[in-house]
Amino acid sequence: MHEMGMCDAIVDAARKRARGRPVSGVKVRIGGHPVDPDVIDQGVRLAAEGTEIEGARIDLVLEPLSVHCRDCGGTTPVGSAAALAACPVCGGVDVETRGRDDVVLESITVAAGREVVPDGEAASVPDGEAGSA
Ligand SMILES: [Zn+2]
Repeated sequence: MHEMGMCDAIVDAARKRARGRPVSGVKVRIGGHPVDPDVIDQGVRLAAEGTEIEGARIDLVLEPLSVHCRDCGGTTPVGSAAALAACPVCGGVDVETRGRDDVVLESITVAAGREVVPDGEAASVPDGEAGSA
């Protein structure tokens, strides 16, 4: 887990989305990674210093992976991939993993207060300059 790399990536994605406009809010969904929101929040603020993102509100949505067990029917959030092999409740191995192990820039809010929702899901998808539909 490299929090700083993640924070840099979040800021990069938000800056691409902002295209030079000042940003007042950034919403990020973090799936799978057992992260400390305070660490991410501070890391993003640090990475954002001197950019359009500086001072933006960081809105983190944490979505831990979970294991759904067909034996007992339970769905249990897990903190690490190592725990995905068996049901933490009953030890059953007829399990499926739910959730996604990725980091997605959900949206940014430019200073005018308008929410900008990305077209694509992944933060790494570059923004084309093609005209509007
Ligand atoms: Zn179970």
